[in-house]
Amino acid sequence: MSKPVIAIVGRPNVGKSTIFNRIVGERIAIVEDKPGVTRDRIYSSAEWLNQEFNIIDTGGIEINDEPLMMQMRYQAEVAIDEADVICFIVNGREGVTAADEEVAQMLFRTKKPVVLGVNKLDDHTMHERLYEFYGLGIGEPIAISGSHGIGLGDLLDEAVKHFPKEKHEEYDEDTIKISLIGRPNVGKSSLVNAILGEERVIVSNIPGTTRDAIDTPFSKDGQEYVVIDTAGMRKKGKVYESTEKYSVLRALKAIDRSDVVLMVLNAEEGLIEQDKKIAGYAHEAGRAVILVVNKWDAVEKDDKTMKEFEDKIRAEFLYLDYAPILFLSAKTKRRLQHLLPLVNEVSEAHNLRVQTHVLNDLIVDAVTMNPTPTDSGGKRLRISYCTQVAVAPPTFILFVNDPELLHFSYKRYLENRIRDTFSFKGAPIRIIARKKN
Ligand code: GDP
Ligand code: GDP
Repeated sequence: MSKPVIAIVGRPNVGKSTIFNRIVGERIAIVEDKPGVTRDRIYSSAEWLNQEFNIIDTGGIEINDEPLMMQMRYQAEVAIDEADVICFIVNGREGVTAADEEVAQMLFRTKKPVVLGVNKLDDHTMHERLYEFYGLGIGEPIAISGSHGIGLGDLLDEAVKHFPKEKHEEYDEDTIKISLIGRPNVGKSSLVNAILGEERVIVSNIPGTTRDAIDTPFSKDGQEYVVIDTAGMRKKGKVYESTEKYSVLRALKAIDRSDVVLMVLNAEEGLIEQDKKIAGYAHEAGRAVILVVNKWDAVEKDDKTMKEFEDKIRAEFLYLDYAPILFLSAKTKRRLQHLLPLVNEVSEAHNLRVQTHVLNDLIVDAVTMNPTPTDSGGKRLRISYCTQVAVAPPTFILFVNDPELLHFSYKRYLENRIRDTFSFKGAPIRIIARKKN
């Protein structure tokens, strides 16, 4: 089920990305080395009061060479098209500007709920500036300070109120939803065709050709599947759809809706930064992942080539070490027969549930072999109990004396022990430390 989406809009410099970063918090740091330096990240999952949602910073969607006013227009359009709730941000210190009124005009036309945040009101003495913003006709302005983290809770409270009620599951629970992600031209559509065994989708050499297939259900050997084709999800005729950021956004939406993500890489061209970014999101979203290296037919190879390519992928996608790699060719269909069995396998792993007593025996053994760490004061981590609280992704809670003592390296060690014993191929594993009372 896809999560509700909040989009942040507003003219430049009102503090959109500051607010985005605040709301998203530490999540950004997982796969990106320099958070905040460039405005790379415009989409993330986040949480407020146990409600999970996705958030878009539309300010990061830039259309080359368009004048400012047009940029703002497209950004508002993305928000209107993609979001469930729009957070319209203005600068409280500057008062209402003509550009704010422009944005407000665009937002009047949507039926989507709009929440108005008046930013840069860093302390209470500034709150009287709020009243002027009633004039925008958007409703009750909420005083916030992105850089001080003030009022964001109020803003999110208001946004969450407008989230759509529980959406219905689109498919049967047993149906495996597959998304294919990867940059243009790696062969996603060709692969979809190859899987479906028919030329349903138009394939061309031009990246970004409009295609109209969206979700394609099919069944094989008694298993139901749905292919979510990201290319087919484009909104035809919108100016912003050709931007890289927007196509990433679409990929991320597909990831959210799927169980198994096929991260398609191009054997001919190798890996690029964009691949890493998208793959990082699949990891964060907790989906099962398979790294599919397509166009393997087009590579000149000897007996070392596959291993070399594999090493390169492993080095670039360190956090995806659990994801199997499959080399194939959508064109010649070589090794394609391994794909769906692998999809089944990772899907099963993603939903695997380990019995508590077996898990605890494993943890006891692991601790015996490699004692838990101590902090500088000599205080040792003690694990009382471990239990799996969720599947898809498999999530384990460790009850310990002090969660701070569970360092990354020991967590990693425990994860590897769990992986050695159970087949969690393709599935990310989450281990959370909780203080035992
Ligand atoms: P965007 O273009 O709308 O994404 O705006 P940015 O997030 O890049 O912020 C523009 C400038 O406003 C930066 O220098 C921020 O540090 C500053 N800023 C953002 N939020 C606040 C705030 O709450 N108070 C103050 N005083 N400055 C802020
Ligand atoms: P998409 O943009 O990722 O959906 O990529 P397409 O499926 O449209 O493929 C882009 C181009 O790569 C087309 O010209 C395809 O014919 C070609 N292509 C796709 N798969 C393969 C493959 O396995 N081998 C080779 N040699 N070419 C391929």
